[in-house]
Amino acid sequence: MARYIFVTGGVVSSLGKGLSSASLASLLQLRGYKVRIRKLDPYLNVDPGTMNPFQHGEVFVTDDGAETDLDIGHYERFTEISATKFDNITTGGIYSDIIKKERRGDYLGGTVQVVPHVTNRIKKFISHNVKNEDFIICEIGGTVGDIESLPFLEAIRQFSNDIGKRNSLFIHLTLVPYLKASAELKTKPTQHSVKELRSLGIQPDIIICRSEKSIPKNEREKISLFCNVDIKNVIETIDVKTIYEAPISFHKEKLDERVLSYFNIKSKKKPNLTKWKKITLNVLRSKKEVNIGIIGKYVNLKDAYKSLDEALAHGGISNKLKVKLDRIDSDSLRVDNLDALLKKVSGILIPGGFGKRGSEGKIAAIKYARLNNIPFFGICFGMQMAVIEAARNLLKIKNASSSEFGNNCTPVVGLINEWQKGNKIFKGNEKNLGGTMRLGLYDAILKKNSLTSKIYSMKKISERHRHRYEVNIKYQSEFEKKGLIFSAISPDGLLPEIVELKTHPWFIGVQFHPEFKSRPFNPHPLFSSFIKAAHKQKEIS
Ligand code: GLN
Repeated sequence: MARYIFVTGGVVSSLGKGLSSASLASLLQLRGYKVRIRKLDPYLNVDPGTMNPFQHGEVFVTDDGAETDLDIGHYERFTEISATKFDNITTGGIYSDIIKKERRGDYLGGTVQVVPHVTNRIKKFISHNVKNEDFIICEIGGTVGDIESLPFLEAIRQFSNDIGKRNSLFIHLTLVPYLKASAELKTKPTQHSVKELRSLGIQPDIIICRSEKSIPKNEREKISLFCNVDIKNVIETIDVKTIYEAPISFHKEKLDERVLSYFNIKSKKKPNLTKWKKITLNVLRSKKEVNIGIIGKYVNLKDAYKSLDEALAHGGISNKLKVKLDRIDSDSLRVDNLDALLKKVSGILIPGGFGKRGSEGKIAAIKYARLNNIPFFGICFGMQMAVIEAARNLLKIKNASSSEFGNNCTPVVGLINEWQKGNKIFKGNEKNLGGTMRLGLYDAILKKNSLTSKIYSMKKISERHRHRYEVNIKYQSEFEKKGLIFSAISPDGLLPEIVELKTHPWFIGVQFHPEFKSRPFNPHPLFSSFIKAAHKQKEIS
């Protein structure tokens, strides 16, 4: 039977619950166990798909097309297990299921309540589709004390009681702040957070303390005493130089050992952390740098392009280069400041995006990359903007644009009419925005001898998508005459998936999101190749 590890957070948000859960999962894998990580998010959106990245960071897309929390990306990258739609749920998702059932009359006249209906639905999610996993790590979003997370905490309390205390473990992650004025580490916020958790019936078994400085024995004793936790289970986590160091640092603090000891399990094998050590050294020792300009709307919030930042770092790892990101606000780009803003970068990347705002700045930057032979990588919206730029300047269609910005244009990018997955036909939808895009894995066939087919060294690829609009296939031959090759198309020959410029050292636009499939130990070939090309560009300029 699987054992369940619940991870909650206290004091403040953004302490690194996702990274801690992912690190623990990796350590358990290295000890020979099968693990699965799940996340419960307390907000009312049915999924984060309709949320602005400023609100909640990137939306991470799974193979099966679920729009999920960005922590799911950490889990995938650290465990190399592809997540599914069964691995992330929100309060909104739970309520919408329950309300649908209520409307159908499934509750047979009963009163529908938070306990037991909502809590039962949460419990069902936690153990749903569990097969032969040894451990399920379940992270609860938000911070203990929030009104919204109460049903989740009640559900995990009940869950632990249902399966027995010995089969479930509670980890609580808190902050131990350092006060400069008194030169002291303060344990009181942790004590209060644990008090709050205990008032809900949950006694943590392990406390992970995030701190700027190492926590001395005296403070650990205090936490142990007031929070009723074995001192060996007070684990510190101090800022690491690279995220790849996190599993190493948790292992040093014996987190994995304490988890197994709690469950009274003897480790299947001694964990070998060489892969984490090697990758950490690679990142810390790479001195040569390459500057990449990311041009987007959400450049002020780091988490908005989380997987992209990671995938670029992976591209750096495979070339032993440090990738420095220059985040440029697309709204601030104008013809007269392009050169000043872009001359420092050796590669230009335009990520996914929605809406007209900032699109003209992106188009101007693409023109600059095209004319100055600067490696250019357009992802989803970035590819669509590259096609609009080429239509305006190579095909001379002056009012070329996307129907996403209104109908007053020649739509070289337009709403996808329909697409097929398995036997099902889906239709484009601009009215209902939640979960109606072309989402998840779709195949594409690569054109022989194209740059992309060399990079992938494959004929057929399968990548994760998240889009409602698509490049109009009707213009293919006109574009190809001008050197913009459609180097991958969907198997039915209708949807352009990759474009590349024949007359340019590295100019590729992809309709999918390769960043979601890139992993530290298996960097995505497009990112490795892009970073290599950008570095070459730096050497020659
Ligand atoms: N807004 C564009 C579309 O829906 C691009 C989406 C994206 O970049 N993920 O097609």
